[in-house]
Amino acid sequence: MLVCWLVGKEECSQRMKLPHLEAVVIGRGPETGITDKKCSRQQVQLKADCNKGYVTVKQIGVNPTSVDLVNIGKDEEVKMKPGQVLYVVNKLYPFMVEFAEESAKTAAEAENKMQTNKMLCEDSCEDEDVELVPRKRTKTEVVGTEGSSANPKLSKQEGTSSKKEHLGHWSQGLKSSMQDPEMQVYKDEKAVVIKDKYPKARYHWLVLPWKPIPSLKSITRDHIELLEHMHAVGQRMIEQCPARQSLEFRLGYHAIPSMSQLHLHVISQDFDSPALKTKKHWNSFTTDYFLNSEDVIEMVRSKGKVLVGDHVSECLKLPLRCHHCKQQLSTMPELKAHLMKHRPK
Ligand code: AMP
Ligand code: ZN
Repeated sequence: MLVCWLVGKEECSQRMKLPHLEAVVIGRGPETGITDKKCSRQQVQLKADCNKGYVTVKQIGVNPTSVDLVNIGKDEEVKMKPGQVLYVVNKLYPFMVEFAEESAKTAAEAENKMQTNKMLCEDSCEDEDVELVPRKRTKTEVVGTEGSSANPKLSKQEGTSSKKEHLGHWSQGLKSSMQDPEMQVYKDEKAVVIKDKYPKARYHWLVLPWKPIPSLKSITRDHIELLEHMHAVGQRMIEQCPARQSLEFRLGYHAIPSMSQLHLHVISQDFDSPALKTKKHWNSFTTDYFLNSEDVIEMVRSKGKVLVGDHVSECLKLPLRCHHCKQQLSTMPELKAHLMKHRPK
């Protein structure tokens, strides 16, 4: 039987068992070590499902609890999986969850394994796309209060100097995929194209530069030519697509990508895919969260960098709205059924 552990990312001593399907409330107090008055004593409710391998996280307190960089909202719930980071309040006090086989180990033994586990949880290569919830985000340039100091942990995910950056971590998956000849569908001296492993539409490619560039955050005017090349490669992919006459395509970047190494999405607008499962998937491709490649290039040309507004993570929470006729739908199944009306047969 698997058991779930809530593990403090900063303090090794913070380790709490989350019994299967039992609601556990945490907040300010000795069990977490949080003394911050902004954190309610009953800030977050956690319910682990050891069979399904996720924890349902509900914000009870007034101040924001977030999973990765996305605030949950009072009385709202999200599902959190290993690899994601729960910030108990105000993007502070990071915790992760781990599922491990229960054995006869004593608590003390478990405690001794703490350091190792801390490393392993960084490694836990999730099916990144079973994203029932806000995915682990790396930050791009954010204007305003969410500056790079807001979460030093996140810059570590991107920074090439971090010890924690290694190809075993799920956020590094594109770096492995782009080197894998089985995944490559096009390459030249500057860029490679792979099929998205969890395509959100009939055609979904990722164009990546060979040069290590963690994200749009690192982009300067020196990269304009490369961005233009990536765009041209994306367009070439569309031109060679057998369905190019009947399908529309967009080329763009997620404002806050989850995966390291710059990647341009080239995606057909049918969104006909079983991997398109969640509101966040939908909104990440159909709201301002999706930055058109041409706009990005223009911004770099005019401003010298890519600026992403504070509001952008909120885009993921917007109501479901058809990208063609703007009709609002209540659920993903309803949206998917609606999309069929617009789809070329
Ligand atoms: P984002 O970082 O939000 O711009 O999106 C990352 C994209 O990479 C998603 O569309 C995922 O489906 C896709 N993806 C995740 N892991 C892999 C992988 N190992 N190989 C190829 N594509 C991946
Ligand atoms: Zn519609």
